[in-house]
Amino acid sequence: MSDDAPAGAVQMGLGAAEVLDGLREAVLILNGKFDILFANRALSNVLRVAVDEAAGRSLFSLGGSVWNDPKLRRDLSRVIVEGWELNDLEVEQDLEQKGKRYLVLNARRLMASAESVPMLLLAIQDVTEQRLANAERVRVQSELEKLATELARSNQDLERFAYVASHDLQEPLRMVASYTQLLARRYAGQLDARADKYIAYAVDGATRMQELVNGLLAYSRVSRQGEDFVPVACEQVLESVLRNLEHACRKTGAVVTHDALPTIRGNPTQLTQLLQNLISNALKFRGSEPPRVHVSARAAADQWLFSVRDNGIGIDPQYFQRIFVIFQRLHTREQYSGTGIGLALCKKIVEHHGGRLWVESAPGSGSTFLFTLPREVPEA
Ligand code: ADP
Repeated sequence: MSDDAPAGAVQMGLGAAEVLDGLREAVLILNGKFDILFANRALSNVLRVAVDEAAGRSLFSLGGSVWNDPKLRRDLSRVIVEGWELNDLEVEQDLEQKGKRYLVLNARRLMASAESVPMLLLAIQDVTEQRLANAERVRVQSELEKLATELARSNQDLERFAYVASHDLQEPLRMVASYTQLLARRYAGQLDARADKYIAYAVDGATRMQELVNGLLAYSRVSRQGEDFVPVACEQVLESVLRNLEHACRKTGAVVTHDALPTIRGNPTQLTQLLQNLISNALKFRGSEPPRVHVSARAAADQWLFSVRDNGIGIDPQYFQRIFVIFQRLHTREQYSGTGIGLALCKKIVEHHGGRLWVESAPGSGSTFLFTLPREVPEA
């Protein structure tokens, strides 16, 4: 403390000073002229001056630009003179080498007794790191939000494109398909063998393109069909699926069994597509035994857990993600027919209904496709 240390300097007990030195917050005691009577060690972090050098100096001569604001000076005076309080006042500090810092001030009037000269108790906390971390968090968050919005928009564009393209392709494709079929029917055996082969290729190509376009159309329609969900009895859905697959079941000797299935809220067409794709895959990817397929549903908290289990060729776990990606297949067309849209469509339908779809399987041990669908829990 300087020689002319003002009267009223507070003599801190050693214990209290030690406690204060342990704080990360700078704690100062100032007289009415803002000369420093006491400061703890943290002062050097906040105002960039060693404690020994600070004693007796005016607060306003330290710490760069912080005290330049006349309003802040006035407010600090009012703390001493009128007993005001400053609570968590955030101020900026420009330090030449250190750049901008952010400080939080708390100030109280301090009087040893009713007659003694009032002093100022000032606590200064450096919150720069928190501020920067917060700013960084906000920046990253807004960056992520921007990316998510862009992604959603480009997804929507892509879906709109797929929808329009597949929708508009249907009509000319129908023409190509029916006329090549007509050609095949009318002229097979009447031209030379090469012409028969070419026509067969054209019919095959047109049929395949129709399958692809229809699949793509179904895929891009899922989220276009709004949330106009209705109660759907899953057992009835399964019955109609089995009717649709009657021929395939008979041909493969398949037996499809099921537990009691619930009624849920959803889109009946999509739920039919879902079960039909899963069951027809179970028939298509069968093993050496005739297919055995079991459909079940179990109530769990606020969801139904459905499963479609088969005894087919199974799937290597390394492909568990890939099979749900559109156009991804694990086999050639010569091995198994298909477009690679089925499971992607199933996934989209389940997610559109607020659920999740995944698979459990091992090569040669059959596959179980599991999906959740929201369950309406009766109110208590
Ligand atoms: P697609 O049936 O047209 O090939 P999917 O999207 O329905 O297309 O299926 C993707 C791939 O997942 C299939 O090519 C097949 O390899 C595998 N897969 C699907 N279902 C089964 C199943 N029940 N058993 C074994 N593999 C399956």
